[in-house]
Amino acid sequence: MVKEVLNVEEVLNVEAVALEEKEIGPLTILFGKENGKYPHGNSLLIKGSKKTAIVDPCLGVVARKDNLPVVDMMLLSHVHEDHVAGTHLFPTASCHAHEADAIGMSSIEGMLNIYGFEGLVRDEFEDLIINEFFFEARADVISYKSGEVFDLGGVTVTAMHTPGHTRGHTCFLIEWQGEQGGAEKLVYLGDIELTGFGPYYGDAWSSLEDFESSLEFLKTVDAQRWLTFHHKGLIESREKFLVMLEAFRSMIDYREENLLKYIEESRTMDEIVEHRFVYRPGTGGLMADQVERRSMGMHLERLIRQGMVEHTDDRYKKVLM
Ligand SMILES: [Zn+2]
Repeated sequence: MVKEVLNVEEVLNVEAVALEEKEIGPLTILFGKENGKYPHGNSLLIKGSKKTAIVDPCLGVVARKDNLPVVDMMLLSHVHEDHVAGTHLFPTASCHAHEADAIGMSSIEGMLNIYGFEGLVRDEFEDLIINEFFFEARADVISYKSGEVFDLGGVTVTAMHTPGHTRGHTCFLIEWQGEQGGAEKLVYLGDIELTGFGPYYGDAWSSLEDFESSLEFLKTVDAQRWLTFHHKGLIESREKFLVMLEAFRSMIDYREENLLKYIEESRTMDEIVEHRFVYRPGTGGLMADQVERRSMGMHLERLIRQGMVEHTDDRYKKVLM
């Protein structure tokens, strides 16, 4: 995800550092640098008796490239630059993406369409994806559907479609039998990352309302552990997960409340973009402009539909009740 406005010079620094790993049953969490702070992330290795899969091979896997595991298949939570940066290291492993996102792996054009950046930003982002995230298209990418189960032998991975961040964003429910015979379950959350930044729905392929539905859905999934791709890492208490999920979701309300306050006086879209609701005030850059425009555009569309905002002559104004 494009969570921060990228500074190309700072993006990649994969010198050998002691990277943390944690084993849980058949799983090995391959933590990235700085606990998976963007552009890094946390990948997950799943060793079954029949097959080994890696979920979201990222820059943390690139950093381990002198000591790579043997992998039969790669499972992608979604097709964003930071989640696929290590796919080139496993050319013989099958590559699986949700049917709605798979086109992003099949060509650089497909990948760029997911973000929908325009003009110079698109060109710069293309360079970044190729040079800093090592993107190599996989014409043989295999699509999976929601509900599809990958049986690795003694451990299964079920695809749970959780769109919003991208159209095909998927969480994985990983199940195996613990040593005491009990059912062990971990949910790989991908970019439902539970950080203070809040949900990211700033791409052409993002949807605010799908994101909200996906967050509601996740409350209903029974598990003992959750793993985010970025920052938060492993969460081992359901109570804590639900608190974090609600705090994450509430950032949507926070942005909307701030927006409504700002448009008590009528404002143009350019003014709204300039003000910054997703990024911190003062964050510069054309990329941030495009993300703000799309994200707050989705809030405005909904507020207009609900009769809470009026849109006339290119200006938006809160309807005073
Ligand atoms: Zn993402």
